[in-house]
Amino acid sequence: MSATIKDFKGWLQEICSFNSFEQVIEVVENSGKSQPGKYEARFKVRIYTGNNCYAINAVERGKEANSYLGCVASARKPRAGEDWTRGNDLPDGKLNRETWEEIKNAIIAYELVKLAKKSRGRVEKEKGICDHRSLLVGNPFQGCKPDATFVSKVCACGAIVALERQEDGTVKIA
Ligand SMILES: [Zn+2]
Repeated sequence: MSATIKDFKGWLQEICSFNSFEQVIEVVENSGKSQPGKYEARFKVRIYTGNNCYAINAVERGKEANSYLGCVASARKPRAGEDWTRGNDLPDGKLNRETWEEIKNAIIAYELVKLAKKSRGRVEKEKGICDHRSLLVGNPFQGCKPDATFVSKVCACGAIVALERQEDGTVKIA
């Protein structure tokens, strides 16, 4: 469905939450001209997050087929050793709600931060594949009574594991 610059301003207002439009959205260009049979209006804004800047460009034309909505993301500061900031084209298309939703989703995806790598032990525990064999390294009965047959240890995977001393002196997981 075709949309106008006025609609676009409304969509921007939706993401402002309790802030006023002017507090969080920088208007870079707001121009329009009407000519017989030829109408064009442009509205260009920048929005910012902690790390990135999103330049969004809306062009309304007489025919929706010629309208445009697009977004370019760029880092607000250069990476170490670089004197330019990296950028990426986000989705673009006709000026309509569908394109706006795509851009909005892309911005959120761009901002999501990957989780820290989990420690190997935790991953193994989650997969249920830890064999707790690391507990058998060295003498697990060190510090136990000389005649102790069983000892409990906490494996790196988080499991509490019982170890059993065999008659021949070797240790196995009970
Ligand atoms: Zn384990």
